[in-house]
Amino acid sequence: MSRHYIIPIFVPHYGCPHDCVFCNQKKITGLSTNVTSIDVKNIIEEHLMTFKSDSTIEVAFYGGSFTAIDINIQKELLAIPHEYKISGRIDGIRLSTRPDSIDENILKNLKDYSVDTIELGVQSLDDFVLYKSGRGHTSEDVYKAAELIKEFGFNLGLQMMIGLPGDTGEKAIDTCKKFIRLSPYCVRIYPTLVIKDTYLEKQFLTGDYFPITFEESIALCSILLMLYSINNIDVIRIGLQPTENIQLGKDVVAGPFHPAFRQIVESNIFRLLLEYYFNINNMDTNNKNLIIDSNSKNISPISGQKSSNIKYFIDRYGFNRIKIYTKEIDINHIGITIDEFYDKINMKLLMISYLKDNSII
Ligand code: SF4
Repeated sequence: MSRHYIIPIFVPHYGCPHDCVFCNQKKITGLSTNVTSIDVKNIIEEHLMTFKSDSTIEVAFYGGSFTAIDINIQKELLAIPHEYKISGRIDGIRLSTRPDSIDENILKNLKDYSVDTIELGVQSLDDFVLYKSGRGHTSEDVYKAAELIKEFGFNLGLQMMIGLPGDTGEKAIDTCKKFIRLSPYCVRIYPTLVIKDTYLEKQFLTGDYFPITFEESIALCSILLMLYSINNIDVIRIGLQPTENIQLGKDVVAGPFHPAFRQIVESNIFRLLLEYYFNINNMDTNNKNLIIDSNSKNISPISGQKSSNIKYFIDRYGFNRIKIYTKEIDINHIGITIDEFYDKINMKLLMISYLKDNSII
């Protein structure tokens, strides 16, 4: 199977004129960046040397609001991956930006340089949350930008945060449902972390802001991931990528950080759904053996971190033994055998039923 590689190019956006409470971007005058076209070329070359042939390769400009940077610098930076794309050495170009840094001229320029995917840092579609978070744009800006991006034929990516000031679980679910109506190509979900040297840190230290707890964020992200999943929307990231500094005790002062955040969310979904399945079917589980047949990709989330799901079901449901086997079975199904009983479960249908019974859809 062909592999998909991303070449990340971090474009620090010095002089961002905004004041998002969670961001520690230092304010310096001028809409600029210190990344040059020579850096871009070097980063691409370094990565290309390490990739296997027959793979799909994308160059991604991350880290700031790319289209808020001076247009001449945007052109200079984009010209490099554009050349690589024309020569067939890379396959795609993506970037992330703010919803109010999108207009027709900006999009025309991105088309000229054959950008494929534009990810909007939306964070919330609740105007009060946007205001409390100092985003400096409204939900209306998001709708306008999203429509324009789709009209121009780009892939639309949407990024949301949970646990921002003024946010609630209901508001996050509402943002998710509104995202779904915008039919994005991909989504990222970031639980809000309190990062050093931010306004949020000050609010946290004065007791004016409380981060969402780890347990709450796992429960909420599980619902969000199920909602996107039943609508066939690809969630490409949940939780901030751990780096040398993005660690609790380093730049992360507080908040629901875990290096394997997504894996924990996926395990929680299997726990919720299997528990729901046993309960709605009134299954007799005491002293029985449970065998689960699964696609290899689901083995670890079903089992849970350090077999936490297996231990949970043995303790809670009285199973004698639980075994999980890799089988040629598609990723959306699992097979379960409890002594003589066998069922092949469609997990997406089970999610729909679970979300309906919990009045989420
Ligand atoms: S999150 Fe983006 S828009 Fe907000 S202050 Fe930081 S760089 Fe600027």
